Amino acid sequence: MDMNFISIIIPAYNEEENVQLVYEKIKKEFLSLSYDFEVLFINDASTDGTLQQIKQLSTKTPNVKYISFSRNFGKEAAIFAGLQHVSGRAVIIMDADLQHPPCLIPDLMKGYEEGYDQVIARRNRKGDHVFRRLCSATYYKVVNKVVDVELKDGVGDFRLLSERAVQAALALNEGQRFSKGLFSWIGMEQKIIDYDNVIRENGETKWSFSKLLNYGLDGILSFNNSPLRACFHTGAFILMLSVVYSIITFIQIMENGVDVPGYFTIITAILLLGGIQLLSLGVIGEYIGRIYYETKKRPTYLIQETNIMNGVPHEKNR
Ligand code: UDP
Ligand code: MG
Repeated sequence: MDMNFISIIIPAYNEEENVQLVYEKIKKEFLSLSYDFEVLFINDASTDGTLQQIKQLSTKTPNVKYISFSRNFGKEAAIFAGLQHVSGRAVIIMDADLQHPPCLIPDLMKGYEEGYDQVIARRNRKGDHVFRRLCSATYYKVVNKVVDVELKDGVGDFRLLSERAVQAALALNEGQRFSKGLFSWIGMEQKIIDYDNVIRENGETKWSFSKLLNYGLDGILSFNNSPLRACFHTGAFILMLSVVYSIITFIQIMENGVDVPGYFTIITAILLLGGIQLLSLGVIGEYIGRIYYETKKRPTYLIQETNIMNGVPHEKNR
């Protein structure tokens, strides 16, 4: 394989205004670099003209490849499909919306030349809504306490992976993927490059608040069983409290006899314990749900069409 061949994976969902643009910008960056490149678009079943745009581009430029999914499988699946189908020695993963500025490519390549397996682009949160900044800052504080891989604020999927890192990422073949954590899990030599946050110009973000919330939960649940531990600890703590409380009440009754009926104590205990029990059940349920999905061994994605030769590996695509 050619040492100087770089693949760029771009998941695209309803990005018709961006396809051409992002390709042009990438091409421009490679003019000053001594590397050949291919751009692999993963069309995540866009409902706009994204696929047409990509096809048009690929007929004009042979180094544009695409895979088009049979339905919307999500960005995680798109990245996985990309990693399975690249032919480059190193791989760069970036968004279609230009929020991952192509002008960082030379820096990424520099890190690659220095021998790093992962060159990670990290954004600051300039221009983000205060509320979102606050949420993510708190989230990363919490998540890094409970999860055993390190998740950094501002670090996403925008990065360069060496061939070794790609192989490692592919070896983690879980169906429900949380790339950010998986890339952190594989470790290897890493270099971080900081860049200023870019506001999306064309199209709109695909994240709703509930999607973000679920993504956040995924981050915590995909990596270990500390939430189950937390349920156990809470249970043990409450058990201890209630033993102490019953002893105190018992002594009081022995001394003073039964006095008040204790409506408040009872209702508080019921609500509190009810809440904790439901929460714990939810946590257990989440894990069982994950086991359920993993045991089905469904493919992570299905390909509708592609211009990659031998590009339909249905039996190996998870
Ligand atoms: N994306 C995708 N499938 C989806 C949603 C998003 O492939 O179901 C792509 C999208 O086209 C973009 C990238 O993932 O290239 C990041 O999406 P977005 O810009 O909405 O996320 P944000 O930058 O707001 O985190
Ligand atoms: Mg974006």
